[in-house]
Amino acid sequence: MSRHFDSILIGTSPVCVLEGCALKAAGHSPLLIDRAETFGGAWGGVDIPLVGTVESGPHSLSFSPPTREFICRTLNLDLKPMTPDPIFVMPRRVFGSYRASYRARWPYAAGRIEAEFPRSIAAWRKVINPYYHFMRDLVNSAPRFSNAIENVIGGTPVLAKRLEELAHAYHLDVVLGTSVDSVSIDTNAKRVTVQTQDGAFTADEFVMTTRTALDRIEVDGEMHQVDSKSVSLVQLLLVLDDMPTQSFSFAQFVDSPNVWLASDLTSSLSVDLQRKGYRVIGIVVTHEITPGYDAVMCIFEELCQRGLIDASVKLAGHRWVPFNGPNREATELAEIENRFRPFVRTLCSDALTQCIEDNAQRWDASLSVAPPAERTA
Ligand SMILES: Cc1cc2nc3c(=O)[nH]c(=O)nc-3n(C[C@H](O)[C@H](O)[C@H](O)COP(=O)(O)OP(=O)(O)OC[C@H]3O[C@@H](n4cnc5c(N)ncnc54)[C@H](O)[C@@H]3O)c2cc1C
Repeated sequence: MSRHFDSILIGTSPVCVLEGCALKAAGHSPLLIDRAETFGGAWGGVDIPLVGTVESGPHSLSFSPPTREFICRTLNLDLKPMTPDPIFVMPRRVFGSYRASYRARWPYAAGRIEAEFPRSIAAWRKVINPYYHFMRDLVNSAPRFSNAIENVIGGTPVLAKRLEELAHAYHLDVVLGTSVDSVSIDTNAKRVTVQTQDGAFTADEFVMTTRTALDRIEVDGEMHQVDSKSVSLVQLLLVLDDMPTQSFSFAQFVDSPNVWLASDLTSSLSVDLQRKGYRVIGIVVTHEITPGYDAVMCIFEELCQRGLIDASVKLAGHRWVPFNGPNREATELAEIENRFRPFVRTLCSDALTQCIEDNAQRWDASLSVAPPAERTA
């Protein structure tokens, strides 16, 4: 016989763990199911041989002071402003040109820029206008912006560990390493059945998020599509040797053919490796890049040319980290919730910062009571 819960949530991301613990604290019985073997979702760590578990890529949080206080207290985290301040790497097509050697070595990376290089005043305006507006907005919001951006000190492996500890403190039922294959609703019995590789679970409600991988929900034998356009995002982790000093914390690239974001994730390395001069740089790459060794060298060279890392450092290792899956928008989630009410509830987790900001007060109200004592079976 399947076990019955009040709610079943898919995933162990910060959103799901906080929602699960808040439900538990309010006296409900939630179950979390994740096909991953470890906690954290997109905020989980990644293993690199010889280096261990490190942050899976650039992550940033930008909270209002009360939300920041809630998250630091609840997850026992130390969120510190980034040092040095985040920087914006400007497009060379405005302020310079690619070096000939760079173009010769990485033609696929430089080709797009060359093809779009402005040849008339009107075309130049097109290039400069968005850049001008971007700079104006940046300057206008500069004081707020630089104070608001925070870094998960110790990297996301620390966050994932704290999520696991919180789930443990609230005696949350969690099933890891099993995929949810189908969800069906019986409106007469007022019951949701969630079928996994390891068997079925039933609940009064099913909670899904922006990134829950699920195509269909069956209602009284009839299939309804809940799929969404899929996003694929690739992150690259570079392990560098012999580069003891920190030159940047977080860089946002403006119109680079290779890189969107780059972040220094060295704080997620063991203290021992940090002392030996190892550094980890996480990079979110643009869609044009095809993962491979050529692309690694191309990105490495771009970071050197832009002065973010020293050309003398050694590349000790790298790992590509792909993230594929749905990315439902708020309107899609609202539509799903309306369609399957009261059996399906949704949480918009498009950006963790916003999701926590939206729910912090509600979660804090539940979590401020002491964790429930473990029930004996
Ligand atoms: C690489 C990356 C970096 C990000 N960085 C930031 C950031 O810096 N700041 C920010 O505010 N937001 C960021 N985001 C946005 C991100 O979507 C949220 O931070 C948040 O993690 C989303 O929570 P989620 O539960 O929807 O998805 P995820 O965190 O992706 O977690 C989903 C979990 O559910 C599991 N799962 C999904 N479908 C199934 C299924 N059918 N069966 C079993 N298990 C399943 C997956 O294994 C996964 O562990 C980032 C997203 C990505 C992908």
